[in-house]
Amino acid sequence: MKLLTPGTVPEATAMLRDSGGRAKPIAGATDVFVHWPVRVPADDEIFIDLSGLAELRPHRWTDDELILGALTTYWDVITDPRAAEEFAILVQAARTVGSIQIQTRGTWAGNIANASPAADGVPALMARDAVVELTSAEGVEQVPLDAFYLGYKRFVMKPDQLITAIRLPRRPHHFESFIKVGTRRAQAITKVGVAIAHSDAGWRIVANSMAPTVRRCRALEEALDDQAPLRSPNDFTPLLTRDLAPIDDIRSTAAYRLGVLARVLYHELAPVCGSVGPSGAAS
Ligand SMILES: Cc1cc2nc3c(=O)[nH]c(=O)nc-3n(C[C@H](O)[C@H](O)[C@H](O)COP(=O)(O)OP(=O)(O)OC[C@H]3O[C@@H](n4cnc5c(N)ncnc54)[C@H](O)[C@@H]3O)c2cc1C
Repeated sequence: MKLLTPGTVPEATAMLRDSGGRAKPIAGATDVFVHWPVRVPADDEIFIDLSGLAELRPHRWTDDELILGALTTYWDVITDPRAAEEFAILVQAARTVGSIQIQTRGTWAGNIANASPAADGVPALMARDAVVELTSAEGVEQVPLDAFYLGYKRFVMKPDQLITAIRLPRRPHHFESFIKVGTRRAQAITKVGVAIAHSDAGWRIVANSMAPTVRRCRALEEALDDQAPLRSPNDFTPLLTRDLAPIDDIRSTAAYRLGVLARVLYHELAPVCGSVGPSGAAS
């Protein structure tokens, strides 16, 4: 195995290009180490260690955006009081990831690129209209996170591209919430997860572990934007199935996932809206 250690982003993207797309970037390595190649022939794998690229580490605030670097960890966000004020949903989601050890090493960019349908950082970022900055030796591209995934573990990022930043518009929110349902409160893979955000840009409802990718529930978002009456969890189900496709697997069943998500959403949204929709009574 080869481990490459670039000193700058251009060096890293040149290494990616020169490997013909074979090299794999490593950030916090919390996902990469799970699949660490202990039995493949040594020359089969090339890794590019991004951890020395200081320019990718910090997150920063501009007048309009919060910009997470590709090496910004969950812990960096949890410990920033400004993030708790303006991006509470990111802090809520970050606190559900693994354990403190994972939160101090794992990065938001690694969560996006690992492309797990159960990723907990991605729904919160997507609910806040995150844009992913992709950099290659050829240049820089900006991709809305809700257009990043093409299917299970497939995305628009090309093998010669790196995530170099995640940009989040700073926008006042009337409501936001992140709910993770798992077998316990720490070190649990999500069975059902959802990020909910409401601003003047409309509702965002983003589910994880409910489809081959983390996905926006656009039919439900439209119904909420139109103030359609949603009087019971049963009213949520047909809207959710237009966008989601949960499966039976070792952790849960499709029916359980859908039933729980509909109930979680109903109970989160009913108190916020007074009633869900103009004529619906919260109960
Ligand atoms: C014990 C344990 C518990 C966990 N619990 C959770 C949990 O509760 N919720 C959750 O969502 N995840 C969880 N994870 C998974 C993991 O911690 C997260 O997905 C984390 O955000 C990955 O970030 P990383 O920096 O460690 O990524 P890495 O492991 O370094 O990389 C992950 C993938 O992203 C790619 N990559 C990394 N950075 C870049 C970049 N800048 N550009 C392009 N590609 C890149 C890598 O090539 C790799 O394919 C857990 C992992 C462990 C080991």
